Amino acid sequence: MKINTLFKGATWFMLVAVVAACKPGLQDEVVISSGQDQILDHWKAKDITVSGDSIVLGNESATLVSRFHVQNFDLSMTLKTTPGAEGSLSFHTSESGATSGEGYRVMINNSDYRTGSPQKTGSLSMIRNFFVHMVDDGEWFTLNVSVRANHIAVSVGDKIVSEYREPDHPLRTEGNEGMVLSEGLLVLNKSNDEGSIFVSDIRIEGLTDEIPRDTMNFESTDAVAEALTLLNQRGFPVIDFHGHLKGGLTMDQAAEHGRNHGFNYGIAENCGLNFPVTDDATLNAYYDRISGEPVFKAMQCEGREWVNMFSEEPVSLFDYIFSDAMTFTDHKGRRLRLWIPEEVFIDSEEQFMEMLVERAVNIISKEPIDIHVNPTFLPDVLNDKYDILWTPERMDRVIQALVDHDVALEINARYRLPGIAFIQRAKDAGVKFTFGTNNAAANDLGRLEYCLEVLEEVDLTPEDIFLPKPAGDKKVMEMGIPDEMTG
Ligand SMILES: [Zn+2]
Repeated sequence: MKINTLFKGATWFMLVAVVAACKPGLQDEVVISSGQDQILDHWKAKDITVSGDSIVLGNESATLVSRFHVQNFDLSMTLKTTPGAEGSLSFHTSESGATSGEGYRVMINNSDYRTGSPQKTGSLSMIRNFFVHMVDDGEWFTLNVSVRANHIAVSVGDKIVSEYREPDHPLRTEGNEGMVLSEGLLVLNKSNDEGSIFVSDIRIEGLTDEIPRDTMNFESTDAVAEALTLLNQRGFPVIDFHGHLKGGLTMDQAAEHGRNHGFNYGIAENCGLNFPVTDDATLNAYYDRISGEPVFKAMQCEGREWVNMFSEEPVSLFDYIFSDAMTFTDHKGRRLRLWIPEEVFIDSEEQFMEMLVERAVNIISKEPIDIHVNPTFLPDVLNDKYDILWTPERMDRVIQALVDHDVALEINARYRLPGIAFIQRAKDAGVKFTFGTNNAAANDLGRLEYCLEVLEEVDLTPEDIFLPKPAGDKKVMEMGIPDEMTG
């Protein structure tokens, strides 16, 4: 059944008066536009086409501009993209929308990783960038934007993906000064000539402008918060690729922590001997549990035994997989776990280091991992000698393996590893990086502090940061999983 235009809190006669006025404000009114006729009643269209009952934005100049102003509002749009399509929804803006530099912009881009803009649908662009691919091209989905006083929330389907509380004096870099809340138009526009954006329904509820400001304080004035704000305004992919739901931490809490502070999460389950996930069935069940969540889906391959426990297909579902060189068997057949003092056996420091480097190189070369995590970790008893034991020659052997096998290097916030010298050498060699915390509980999520220090010190650029390979092109499918343990 076709839904007619509905109005709540305003009579039909008031509506006529409102529409007759130039660019009326929308307050305490609900406008539901279902299908192209009703959309065109409330939106001014430029260079659009029509398909069935949908409006289609195809070429780069295709635009829908609201015939009303909004301040506080709840918006829901039903959209579909075809491959390559990119666009955005701007609010509190003027007729030229995304190019006006006024107001905020929510990205529409359902391309896979390493294609098109790294910011995906729902990204509150340059403020709370969002890099997780949530929707496939060809799939109808809802995009929701809510503005209440200084609070902005963007959802894709039923998941909040970006959220922001504008402070009293927002920090804006040159060119971004206009990204502030005020009131204004809504503009949906295409930003390239590839693919199309289909629009079938738009629902807007104008809210009172009397909503009080949200005064929640997220350490919004310290140096780390400032660094994260500025990185977002550079479009830098700030992602903690190594989060764990441990110590009672829930998916919602992890995602909210990232949104509040301005970075995205990759959440990994530990998969291997004596861990929660031990075979294809438990791996598939884990994937199904997290597949709709607004985080990167990751698998941590544990020990060296994992290669005998999982097959390629379920592993390839994950956005990326990673491992470290903290668990292996030594030349005497002893299984070492480097973070547990009772399970560390060192007959000679030099011999131990040679073995550690050889094991790391083997893992990086032979296991189909995307990221080498907790890199250069040494057991407690050797930690004081980190700078001596990790000689340039040893560093370079690991770095060469990373380069040769297209494996990214984690900059680990929890262990503050690797040291700057290693990172500088890796950057010079062209290695890609990830940031990762490897939190052990709910109260040690942090804000990527060490990674931000490193970023500044060795001047990492967005191009230095790893992004997952696209679906169907995962490393594990190309390399397979080795038949035998690598160490
Ligand atoms: Zn971990």
